[in-house]
Amino acid sequence: MKVTDHIKKANGNTQFSFEILPPLKGQHIQSVFNNIEPLMEFKPPFIDVTYHREEYVYKELENGLLKKQIVKKRPGTVGICAAIQNKYSVDAIPHILCGGFTKEDTENFLIDLDFLGIDNVMALRGDAVKTETYFRPEKEGHLYASDLVSQVSELNQGIYLGDELKNSSETNFCIGVAAYPEKHMEAPSLDSDIHFLKKKIKKGAEYIVTQMFFDNKKYFDFVDKCRSEGITVPIIPGLKPIATKKQLNLIPHRFHVDLPEDLVMEIVKCKDNTQVRQLGIEWCIEQSKALRKAGIPVLHYYSMGKSDNIQAVASEVF
Ligand SMILES: Cc1cc2nc3c(=O)[nH]c(=O)nc-3n(C[C@H](O)[C@H](O)[C@H](O)COP(=O)(O)OP(=O)(O)OC[C@H]3O[C@@H](n4cnc5c(N)ncnc54)[C@H](O)[C@@H]3O)c2cc1C
Repeated sequence: MKVTDHIKKANGNTQFSFEILPPLKGQHIQSVFNNIEPLMEFKPPFIDVTYHREEYVYKELENGLLKKQIVKKRPGTVGICAAIQNKYSVDAIPHILCGGFTKEDTENFLIDLDFLGIDNVMALRGDAVKTETYFRPEKEGHLYASDLVSQVSELNQGIYLGDELKNSSETNFCIGVAAYPEKHMEAPSLDSDIHFLKKKIKKGAEYIVTQMFFDNKKYFDFVDKCRSEGITVPIIPGLKPIATKKQLNLIPHRFHVDLPEDLVMEIVKCKDNTQVRQLGIEWCIEQSKALRKAGIPVLHYYSMGKSDNIQAVASEVF
C-alpha cells in the first residue's frame, strides 16, 4: 500500500515508522530481523531500508603501488525489502539513488521492485563518494533527485527508456523525497533548497521525509515555509535519539544539523554513555509527544542499526 494511502487510512492518528540499514556484508538477515522485531509492536505501516553506494578503497600492493578497489559494504537493500514484506506483511520502502546508477540500471532496479510488489520508493541523489568533494553522476545517470523522480514518474505512465517497447505496463510507485529543515549542506540558502524541493514534488513525489532535527521549531518553521511556497504533500519528520557523547560532534559533521544548546549542555554533564543514551531517549520522547500533539501523520525514526532506544521512545509515545 502507498504511504499516502496509509496516511489517509490512519484518519488523523499519528503513525510510527522507522528506517533500517542493511547489515555489513557478511552478516545474516537475522541481524535485520533482530533489529526490527522489538519495533513491530508499534505497528509501523512501513519500514524504510537505506541504500549504500559503492566506496573506493586503495590497497597497497607488494611493489608499493596502490590498487583502487570498489567495495560495497552494505549491499542487500532489495532483498531485505522483499524479506520484510514477506515476513511481516508490512510495506518496505527501498531508498534508490542517482549515485552509482545509470538510467538503465535504475529502470532495471525499478522493474525488480515492481515485480516484488513494492509500492513505494524513496528517491534520493546520494552523497559524493567519500574520496570526492562533489557529487558526480554516472555518465548516463541523474544529477539531481528530481531527475530520478521524473524517471520513476515516467515508468508509472508506462514510459520506459527505449521506445521500442509496445504495450508496456505501468508501474504504480508512490515516490518519497528528502528535505532538510536546516538546509541541505550544498544549498546556498534554505529558499533555494525549498525551490528545488518543490521541483521534486512537481515531477511526481507525493511525500517528504526530513533529515533529523533536535529542535521542533526548526521543523515547524520549515513546514510553514514549504506550505507558503505551495508544497502541500505530507512532510514526515525524521527523528533520532542521541546515544553517545561522540555524536555531539559526529551528528553535526555528518548530517549538517545543529543541536540545541540545552541538549548540548545536558550531554556534556553526563558521566558516561548510559546517561547520554537515557537523556537522548527523554529528549526524543519530548520531541515526539509535541509532534504528535500537533497532529503530524507519521513520526519516522532513524534506527541506524539499533532499535533499543527507538523502542524506549515508541513505548512512551505510541
Ligand atoms: C530521509 C533521508 C533519507 C536518506 N537516505 C539515504 C540513503 O538511503 N542512502 C544515501 O546514500 N543517502 C541517503 N540520504 C542522504 C542524501 O542522499 C544526501 O543528503 C544527498 O546529499 C542529497 O540527496 P537529495 O535527494 O536530497 O538531493 P537533491 O534533491 O538532488 O538535492 C541535492 C542538492 O542539490 C540542490 N539542487 C537540487 N536540484 C537542483 C537543480 N536543478 N539545480 C541546482 N541545484 C539543485 C539541492 O538544493 C541540494 O542542495 C538520505 C537523506 C534523507 C533526508
